[in-house]
Order: sequence, then C-alpha cells, then structure tokens
Amino acid sequence: MTILRTTDLTKKFGNFKALDGVNMEVNEGEIYGFIGPNGAGKSTTIRVLLGVLKATEGEAKIFGLDAWKDAVEIHKRVAYVPGDVNLWPNLTGGEVIDLFMKLRGTTNKNRREELIELFKLDPTKKCRTYSKGNRQKVALVAAFASDADLYIFDEPTSGLDPLMENIFQNRVNEAKREGKSVLLSSHILSEVEKLCDKVGIIREGRIIETGTLKELRHLTRTQLLVETKQPILSLNELKGVYDIEKKGEGLSFQVDGEELDSVMKHVSQFGLIKLESSPPTLEDLFMRHYEGSGTASNNGVGGV
Ligand code: ADP
Ligand code: MG
Repeated sequence: MTILRTTDLTKKFGNFKALDGVNMEVNEGEIYGFIGPNGAGKSTTIRVLLGVLKATEGEAKIFGLDAWKDAVEIHKRVAYVPGDVNLWPNLTGGEVIDLFMKLRGTTNKNRREELIELFKLDPTKKCRTYSKGNRQKVALVAAFASDADLYIFDEPTSGLDPLMENIFQNRVNEAKREGKSVLLSSHILSEVEKLCDKVGIIREGRIIETGTLKELRHLTRTQLLVETKQPILSLNELKGVYDIEKKGEGLSFQVDGEELDSVMKHVSQFGLIKLESSPPTLEDLFMRHYEGSGTASNNGVGGV
C-alpha cells in the first residue's frame, strides 16, 4: 500500500525553482532514504508534504489525502522531527514530550519512560537550557512515543553523538518491524545505507536516481586489494577496472559492480593469495552524481 506519494511536485520561491518535478513513493513498512547535498530540496519537499508549504504544481499525498488541504487529518498519523528542533523555552523537556503526546492522542507512559532512558535525556530541565543534541532528543522521544503510521525525519541526527545515532537507528528499525513507514532525509550516507529499503537521490530539485540499494549498486564500484602468485596480466585492459595501484605485494583497484564476476575470474587465474574487498558505498555512488558533467566519460553514469 502506498503511504506517501508525490507526483511531479514543483515548488517555486519567486522565480527560483526549488523543486522541479519530484516523484517519490513510500510504501507501507518501508524506510525511504532521501539523500542529497545541502540545498538540494529535501526540506522543501518535506515542508510541502507536511502542508507547511503549498506546492506550485503537482501533487503531494499522504495516506491518499492531499498534503495541503487535508493536513489536519494527515497530522494525526504523522510524527515529524526536523534537523534543528526549536522548543518552548520555558517548558521542561518532559512537558514538551507530554504536550506532543497529548496532541497526538497517545498515552503510552511506559514507552515514554523507556525512550527517555534510552536516549539518556534529563526531562526535568527547561528547554532553553538544552543543547542542540538534547533538543533533538526531546523531539525524537516525542516522535517515537507517538503511535504514528508515518515518521518523517529531516536530517534528525545532526547534533547527536554516534551512540545516540545508533539508538535512533534501532528505533527506526523497530518502527519498521511494527509495519510503520519512514521517510528519512539525510546527507549522512552511512545512515541511509544502514537503514533504508529504498533511496531517492535529489539534486537541484530533481530526483536523479531512485531504487533499492541493490538496484543502485550496479552504479557503484567495489574496492579490491589482491595478491597473486603470478603477476596479473592485462588487468588494465579489462572492462570496468579503475585506479590500479601497487600496494605492498599486491594491487589495489576498483571494479564496477557489473563487471565484478568477469574480473574475479580473470584475476583468479594468477593464483590468489590474498583478497580484500570493501563493498560499494552510497558515498561512491553519490560522488559520481555530484562530481559534475566533466567526469561523465569515465564514470559510466552519464546523462544525469
Ligand atoms: P535541503 O533541505 O536539501 O538542504 P532545501 O529544501 O532547504 O534544501 O532548499 C532547497 C533550495 O530552496 C535552496 O536553494 C534554498 O535556498 C531554497 N529555499 C528553501 N526555502 C526557501 C524559501 N522559503 N525562500 C526562498 N528560497 C528557499
Ligand atoms: Mg534541509
């Protein structure tokens, strides 16, 4: 079932097109990773989805309802955490969490306590005294304590330390196990890579690539370090091999995902002694997209 869908979503600020025909779809029980550099249009897309901004053209729907017209109805089932959380300065963190929970009609006290414990938040402090990371935690506790069907996170872990980031990731996975859907915007690729079923890469207001991680991996390269009994002949003539360098007794190079099989067959003829590989990362894929058009001839991802 489709939980969230945008169709040819366009948003102009004056003459500036911040979104230029964004199409995305998040299905039930899916974690969708929304990646792109600063200024790509992630937050603008999310603001349209939240009914805070009105689309210039196109459609944004959540639960089959219109993001702008039916915002009130939609918000009953959505939890949202932005990257920079502002809270009422004179309320304590605990009061803010209670307020959020009340607004959403949630009363699960156990869950609230469990989350406060997990995120190591002191809920008795006034919000004005919280660091950015602690404000982030307040919003995350409130979001996870609510019984939403869709969680929208806009770069939610900026300001969290790695330990807390880990806890965030666990909770997102738990939400998924409960059949909830998640839209997670990020420019931290390792986070998206760990969590997401599907990713959409946005650049200058356009989704330039979308698919499962597996589907996108054909665009990425595996880093290899091999040592063989005999010298590997004509490695540089093989299709899909890049950046060959001597490393100690062995050779390090990169291989296109698609050519990995044939390259390994070739290499193994020379008697493998050692083989190390680092899996392709989104970072690698991402880099290729953002390196600019000048590299199109050698990156195999032309025309984006
Ligand atoms: P991201 O979240 O991916 O970093 P944003 O969606 O915040 O990107 O911004 C996309 C583009 O739209 C940027 O160039 C930004 O400067 C511009 N923008 C965002 N909000 C406004 C606004 N209210 N008025 C004018 N330009 C805006
Ligand atoms: Mg943003």
